[in-house]
Amino acid sequence: MTDTTTTLEQADTPAGGTLDHWVSGAPWQGESERTGPVYNPALGRVQKEVRLASADDVDHVVGVAAEAWAQWRDASIAKRQTVLFAFRELLNARKGELAEILTAEHGKVLSDALGEIARGMEVVEFACGLGHLTKGAYSENVSTGIDVYTLRQPLGVVGIISPFNFPAMVPLWFFSIALAAGNAVVLKPSEKDPSAANWMAALLTEAGLPDGVFNVVHGDKESVDALLEHPDVRAISFVGSTPIAKYVYETATRQGKRVQALGGAKNHMLVLPDADLDLAADAAVNAGFGSAGERCMAISVVLAVDSVADALVQKVSERMATLRTGDGMRGCDMGPLITGQHRDKVSSYIDVATADGASVVVDGRGVEPDGDPDGFWLGPTLIDKVPTSSSVYTDEIFGPVLSVVRVDGYEDGLEIINSSQYGNGTAIFTNDGGAARRFQREATVGMIGINVPIPVPVAYHSFGGWKASLFGDAKAYGPHGFEFFTAEKAVTSRWLDPSHGGLNLGFPQHT
Ligand code: NAD
Repeated sequence: MTDTTTTLEQADTPAGGTLDHWVSGAPWQGESERTGPVYNPALGRVQKEVRLASADDVDHVVGVAAEAWAQWRDASIAKRQTVLFAFRELLNARKGELAEILTAEHGKVLSDALGEIARGMEVVEFACGLGHLTKGAYSENVSTGIDVYTLRQPLGVVGIISPFNFPAMVPLWFFSIALAAGNAVVLKPSEKDPSAANWMAALLTEAGLPDGVFNVVHGDKESVDALLEHPDVRAISFVGSTPIAKYVYETATRQGKRVQALGGAKNHMLVLPDADLDLAADAAVNAGFGSAGERCMAISVVLAVDSVADALVQKVSERMATLRTGDGMRGCDMGPLITGQHRDKVSSYIDVATADGASVVVDGRGVEPDGDPDGFWLGPTLIDKVPTSSSVYTDEIFGPVLSVVRVDGYEDGLEIINSSQYGNGTAIFTNDGGAARRFQREATVGMIGINVPIPVPVAYHSFGGWKASLFGDAKAYGPHGFEFFTAEKAVTSRWLDPSHGGLNLGFPQHT
């Protein structure tokens, strides 16, 4: 490990400056002169600019990664483990700095930023076990004197394209395993909150990762397209909205790449009459308004069985009245939205709800934030009796707007969940084990919670939805992650002994 201030200081861009790409272990400007604004959403002001790469810039970075990969692919398991373990230790020691970067650019409150880092760090810990993960299978004497065994080998340069809502965790889901598996990485983070990527890149350098093995290229559609089309990028891991995920999947698979593209969501929470309504109300508020609803696993629809719906709505609105919206650095419960434009779009659904005959129980537009008046604020909003034909129900709103759809019972609720185009996460709240067991079997959704509202699997299982929430066959992290970032090879071997000679043009058979 080298000195722990120099590289991280290089990764820091002061207010008013321009954030560079991170290539070959250092900041890099590239040739493109285009930049984009990076806001502090709690202040509603641009705090820095970020470079937006050209296709030529991306080509350069992929070239650097390809060159570095030639060595990294031969680094021993022990060497890769040492780097990842050092990275985990540095990340744990300095996570407070990263959390502040997340809060300043994304807006999520500091405690939530630390939670994001903790869940990302779990995947680094999983990746540290690569010695176990790389083990292949061995079959001795499949035919006389012949053995067959399988190897998993790295792919080469892989591209990771991440969304704004988890600027640390989502990249960690992918790059920890990609690096452990022996690949070189080009990360294209969201241009809305890009600094966390450089900070983590600098930390990897501090941890001893050879230069060029992990690179960050900042940009927008131009850089994404360049990665999708680049012949030396072997695989793409994408996370973002469904239309872009579909586009990425279709474009990159046409180029013959391996692709996992995780998309948007609309997560339902079905509350049966026998549920503990206090537990359900706590869960709905936590999962609906945490991170201002800007989570792909947020609960955005409560399906309340009629007989308990009034009581549940009452309990949820009482809890909402205790939430403090404001600057994430000030110990509030909920921060601002990512941009003013997004805040306006989210709040426009409140008018749509009224027009569509729903009832607005709590209107977040009247919030008095504990923060700068220019911040991108919208308070927690609760809308009851939302018709499933309304765009409030059908669209992924991605903000602090919780809808209640009233249902007749289990069957009605399940039908709504299974009719959704999305299938990321869902939850059932009940004390009936039989109903819960039916639900886990019958819901056409990738991640199921039973009395758990945000069922994000631990790092040694895999994360991913069904239907329009995931394009491709491989989920993120866990066993799927490792398989995604490696190619399996089967070796059939015979060490000659003189008795095995002779000609035989027939298809090999086992004797
Ligand atoms: P987004 O789709 O706007 O952007 C994601 C990435 O794609 C960014 O890096 C962005 O620069 C790039 N991009 C944007 N427009 C593009 C275009 N036209 N062509 C090529 N690339 C483009 O998503 P976002 O707003 O950053 O993130 C929120 C979305 O991500 C939500 O829909 C949320 O549900 C989803 N998400 C899903 C998961 C999951 O695991 N399924 C996790 C987190 C977020």
